[in-house]
Amino acid sequence: MCNVPEIFGSLVFNEKVMQERLPHATYKAYKKSIAEDIPLDKNTADIMANAMKDWALEKGATHFTHWFQPMTGITAEKHDAFIQPDKDGVIMEFSGKELIQGEPDASSFPSGGLRATFEARGYTAWDPTSYAFIKDGCLCIPTAFCAYTGEALDKKTPLLRSMKAVSNSAVKILKLFGVETKKVVSTVGPEQEYFLIDKKLWEKRKDLVYCGRTLFGAKTPRGQELDDHYFGAIKQRVLAYMHELNEELWKLGVLAKTEHNEVAPAQHELAPIYATTNVACDHNQLMMELMKRIAHKHGMYCLLHEKPFAGVNGSGKHNNWSLSTAEGDNLLNPGKDPARNLQFLTFLAAILKAVDDHQDLLRVSVSSAGNDHRLGANEAPPAIVSAFLGSELTDILEAIAADKVYVNAEKTYIDLTEDAAPSIEKDNTDRNRTSPFAFTGNKFEFRMLGSTFAVSGPNIVLNTIMAEALDDAYDKLVGAEDLEKAVYAYVKETYLAHKRIVFNGNGYTDDWVVEAEKRGLLNLRSAAEAIPYFAHQENLDLFEKYGVFKPHVVKARTEIGLEKYCTTLRIEVNTMLEMFNKDIMPAFTAYTHELLENISAKKALGLTAGYEMKLLEKISALADEAYDASLALDKISEDVKDVEPLEAQAMYYREKIIPAMEALRKPVDDAEILMGSKYLPYPTYGELLFGINE
Ligand code: ADP
Ligand code: MG
Repeated sequence: MCNVPEIFGSLVFNEKVMQERLPHATYKAYKKSIAEDIPLDKNTADIMANAMKDWALEKGATHFTHWFQPMTGITAEKHDAFIQPDKDGVIMEFSGKELIQGEPDASSFPSGGLRATFEARGYTAWDPTSYAFIKDGCLCIPTAFCAYTGEALDKKTPLLRSMKAVSNSAVKILKLFGVETKKVVSTVGPEQEYFLIDKKLWEKRKDLVYCGRTLFGAKTPRGQELDDHYFGAIKQRVLAYMHELNEELWKLGVLAKTEHNEVAPAQHELAPIYATTNVACDHNQLMMELMKRIAHKHGMYCLLHEKPFAGVNGSGKHNNWSLSTAEGDNLLNPGKDPARNLQFLTFLAAILKAVDDHQDLLRVSVSSAGNDHRLGANEAPPAIVSAFLGSELTDILEAIAADKVYVNAEKTYIDLTEDAAPSIEKDNTDRNRTSPFAFTGNKFEFRMLGSTFAVSGPNIVLNTIMAEALDDAYDKLVGAEDLEKAVYAYVKETYLAHKRIVFNGNGYTDDWVVEAEKRGLLNLRSAAEAIPYFAHQENLDLFEKYGVFKPHVVKARTEIGLEKYCTTLRIEVNTMLEMFNKDIMPAFTAYTHELLENISAKKALGLTAGYEMKLLEKISALADEAYDASLALDKISEDVKDVEPLEAQAMYYREKIIPAMEALRKPVDDAEILMGSKYLPYPTYGELLFGINE
């Protein structure tokens, strides 16, 4: 067992290390630059860089990198050795300039055409609010990635800008309530789901190797219906993996906290304690990276895809989000008497307005080909954005809307036994697992994210729309003679205007789809339909107003999103066809050949070949159907090249190609059930999902 407090943060150049290693004046200058959000001066940067290098060398590092988050969704790094030639040898050097700014040749990252046109180069700049750390013998400096013209080329830059925007708006409105704070930070705790399967089996599945999800595969005799995996005892091999993962994350200062088995067989979850959004985002990227890497060491493969297996639950990521003052006061904490907590009510009403006004942006921020398999498919929240408040908060808002005073009603009690002795207070945010955006006591949980998502995207949206809604509240409250009256009037007006977004019921039902349509809520069923909303004029204006994205950057990112959607599906189609032609069709042929031999042998002896004939007919029919479907898929995916513009191409994938993929999968899966094991060209779902049994 490791000594957790001792190893925690041991690979991080954190405050403690800085205090030990930096001259006091340098440390103070660093703190000041963060508190006031001003760049580090050259002298401070040089001293810091040198101290960082000495520390990193002691920890065995030889290289440094600017660690950044391009639009690929994963992190990027280019390692540089610390070496400088000196006489006949080398010395190890690292300057303040190298710490603060780097210039990766990053022309191959997706930019939606932003860089190709005029300014090919981009630079990376240290985000000093996220600590440097050591990974694989390399000092990693968390950085933002921009073009020299200022456009964000990554996911961190706009995230930092959105954090600043919501901070400015929140600080301003808090003053009205007599709260003086320098800044407000948005906090995030992302719960991460994943699958672990045996690596040897993974290697035998081209679909998993190329696409991260299975494209063929019949249902197992046993899936998740016994509900015995959820929170079940964790297998030894998985436990050993989780131990090592925790340890490595702790060394990197990641507050890995809760681990358990999830609903589907082979599915698990890891949740950290929340942190400031940009740090939470960096940490989630590290978590996903280490999950994969450490799995290899344990002979396993970690699948982060949203839907690795049809027929069992997919994986998501719950984004717990809140706002707090620099002093750590959670602004979404309702306190003992929410009905009279004017500040809380203001923030709550503003959130409802933000979510209702910008359903489209929230939906866009969780859109991908992979997540399309979850949203609206009865396991994740529906594709319709709505907010869950629970009965007490809803009652309070209803009372305010009716100009009534909410009397802190008798608490509801639930009896634990029929003649219950001690009753427990009913949680007034009774868990509603089906809501996409649920209030859970002192934070909102945005549940629509897919497991592979960088959390920056959805939080850029949350922070920006909240900044706008808080500004609207400010305009209505500023200068009020009677603040209490003004707040109740604002809450009433805002709630009545946006109450359609509040839904406390079961989001998985068809009734809700009908009801949501009556309420005029958006129902964007797929990423292909959702992504283009990003570039709608009001969204361009919003992001520009809050300094998060310039309009042409939003347009470029819309292109990147659509491009990625199409590319993902194109790779899936190619993989399907390759598997079908190279492995599945030959398996059909081998199996039917054996049946045919049996039949002729039996017939030669004058015997009837009853079951063989029946089986042969069934398999042949399925093989014919599959073969025709493969030709159709091949043809239709050839035609897609000519479909323009990109938006139409994405819809073509959605409406034409996905059904053609399903048409190929169906007969193949049906045949899999009928065929002898030795003919199957890949491990079955049963082997994959139940393959780790020690
Ligand atoms: P639950 O049981 O409702 O899932 P937990 O307390 O386990 O609640 O929290 C789930 C996640 O929410 C954790 O990652 C936790 O750190 C995070 N969380 C808690 N408080 C906040 C907050 N104020 N802001 C952001 N995330 C939070
Ligand atoms: Mg959760």
